[in-house]
Amino acid sequence: MNDLISIIVPCFNEEAAIPYFYDAVAKQAASMRDRYGVEFEYIFVNDGSTDGTLKTLKEYAQRDKRVKYISFSRNFGKEAAMYAGMKNASGEFAAIMDADLQDPPELLPQMYESIINEGYDCVATRRTTRSGEPPVRSFFARCFYKLINKISKTNIVDGARDYRLMTRKMVDAILEMSEYNRFSKGIFGWVGFDTKWIEYENTERVAGETKWSFWKLFLYSLDGITAFSTAPLAIASVLGLVFCLAAFIMIIVIVVKTLIFGDPVAGYPSLICVILLVAGVQTFCIGILGQYLSKTYLETKNRPIYIVKEDNIGKE
Ligand code: UDP
Ligand code: MG
Repeated sequence: MNDLISIIVPCFNEEAAIPYFYDAVAKQAASMRDRYGVEFEYIFVNDGSTDGTLKTLKEYAQRDKRVKYISFSRNFGKEAAMYAGMKNASGEFAAIMDADLQDPPELLPQMYESIINEGYDCVATRRTTRSGEPPVRSFFARCFYKLINKISKTNIVDGARDYRLMTRKMVDAILEMSEYNRFSKGIFGWVGFDTKWIEYENTERVAGETKWSFWKLFLYSLDGITAFSTAPLAIASVLGLVFCLAAFIMIIVIVVKTLIFGDPVAGYPSLICVILLVAGVQTFCIGILGQYLSKTYLETKNRPIYIVKEDNIGKE
């Protein structure tokens, strides 16, 4: 039996990009079959698209029996789509690729060779430039990676894409992590395994539009922090201690001052400032607590990560 590589493709309104994607990957599939004797299968995950993505996928599935599709009942997000893809991948190897060709398929042979010849479990990619991205977004992205690597034990690589080729062992390890709040950039790091990093320059998407607004990215980064670090909780406790200490010092200062100078009233503005500050810090800390509590709440509900409406997995 030849080795099988499963190509997992999350698709959300990618009708325009899928034909380009399919052609580019099919080219690599043909050349890799000749060179290494590996077969490909495609697992397209239609993540509740509202355009003709599903129709396009069905057409491709009819033409090429290596094309499998899974269609969700609504939009569950890229994380859920990647999970569904890995769950249904039957290959000895699996690669995750965006449908917009921002993950160059030309890297696949090189990635496969690194796993076969150099003994890596995973070959991942990171982009060296953020060209074509708004500067504000790049700035906040850099800050986020600096921060999360300081406060989390899991290594989360700046500029890492989700584009990677993994062995079956690593895919199974990731599937074991069936948490509801999924943050793949952290999950990939958390499971360990030997990972080789390939760098490439950012390319613009071939067709369609990006699905990420600044706000969506911001919320996603908060998910990442709560999923892979409990440092904010520790910071909340430290803040509490600092304020107790400050209050203690203030008490001594005021007692001594009153005894020496007999300073009866005054101090209304400073009192208001202190009340506001302390109330602010308290609310902030409760907010942090709330973040973790809400994640725990959703996790205990044990909801499925995705719901399939239709697919052609296991059907010829
Ligand atoms: N995607 C998805 N569900 C979503 C959002 C995005 O499956 O809710 C897919 C999308 O179709 C694409 C990939 O995730 O294949 C990356 O999305 P996009 O290109 O919009 O992100 P960017 O490259 O701009 O970060
Ligand atoms: Mg993209």
